[in-house]
Amino acid sequence: MAKITLDNLAHSYLPNPTSEDDFALKELNHDWVDGEAYALLGASGCGKSTLLNIISGLLHPSQGRILFNDQDVTQAPTAERNIAQVFQFPVVYDTMTVRDNLAFPLRNRGADASYVAQRVDQIAKMIGMEAELNRKARGLTADAKQKISLGRGMVREDVNALLFDEPLTVIDPHMKWELRTQLKSLHHEFGHTMIYVTHDQTEALTFADKVVVMFDGRVVQIGTPQELFERPAHTFVGYFIGSPGMNLFDAKIDGATAQIAGATVPLGAGYQPGGGKVQVGVRPEFVKLTTAEAGVPARIKRVEDVGRHKIVRLDVEGHEISAIAGEGDTIAATTHRITFDPAGINVYADDWRVAPEGEAA
Ligand code: ADP
Ligand code: MG
Repeated sequence: MAKITLDNLAHSYLPNPTSEDDFALKELNHDWVDGEAYALLGASGCGKSTLLNIISGLLHPSQGRILFNDQDVTQAPTAERNIAQVFQFPVVYDTMTVRDNLAFPLRNRGADASYVAQRVDQIAKMIGMEAELNRKARGLTADAKQKISLGRGMVREDVNALLFDEPLTVIDPHMKWELRTQLKSLHHEFGHTMIYVTHDQTEALTFADKVVVMFDGRVVQIGTPQELFERPAHTFVGYFIGSPGMNLFDAKIDGATAQIAGATVPLGAGYQPGGGKVQVGVRPEFVKLTTAEAGVPARIKRVEDVGRHKIVRLDVEGHEISAIAGEGDTIAATTHRITFDPAGINVYADDWRVAPEGEAA
């Protein structure tokens, strides 16, 4: 197992990149702590696979270095990195049996037969394929083949890291949950460094200790699910994580108050956002509807009952914003303003969070 260090890493698929836009992966410095489970989360095309393939050695970065336990492996081929990687689509040997597919990485490394047999049985159980061990992979469904790929990724106990690139895409929803649970328990049992790529926030938040959020080739935040919820470092994190995502209001800030849609809003702390586009971000959980005269003017557009709570959609100066109300709350027809719980307020300048005065860096 290994600590993985990314030092000044960046990648462009172009031979002569000239501007930042030419980089699929923008400059990045990060230590992946040995034994942690990470999710790498972001929309399609943001550079997740590029980063994963650089770590595994399928791709050589155009800038910077990768170190495993402080050893430079930037130019080392994949085989020397001792990594297991599972891809979005199955990679199996059709002419081999399920058993031989699972055993392959172990036999390849010269493991002894009794260990191979015992380990293959264990993995077959985890992926729910004990009954199919003697079948040829050919003719199995895509779903079953992907389970074999996952099993093969998990079979070795001595790898430096396990990398998963959207591995559950072709798996049916029920089995998805099951396999994710298995991956988590595998992590608890063996403590491998794991990086799990997904574009699905639920998958990321339920799998990982730490979530690495990417946007447009850049890592915009690395944090626990709670940190991503409470203190989104970038407006994209606020929008991408949460359901519905964080609301953003154009604002003018003077110390500890903001002017939003003609109303004065207390921020709970002082801010010096400097120049650029200034916005106040508030998650729907911290927006309160009020019939009082104080607050930001808002017009109710519709109320969606989603079971556990209600989502109220409102219009503020032509922008739709959301508030979460309790299942039992009645929403008065005279409601025409909203207020914010200061604990749920974040301030942004040009999309990056501005720390309030007094917050530890
Ligand atoms: P993700 O895995 O997050 O969907 P990728 O890492 O696959 O994103 O892609 C990031 C960007 O790099 C995208 O704009 C994509 O089109 C581009 N890209 C990916 N692979 C290649 C390649 N082999 N050659 C050129 N451009 C590529
Ligand atoms: Mg990808």
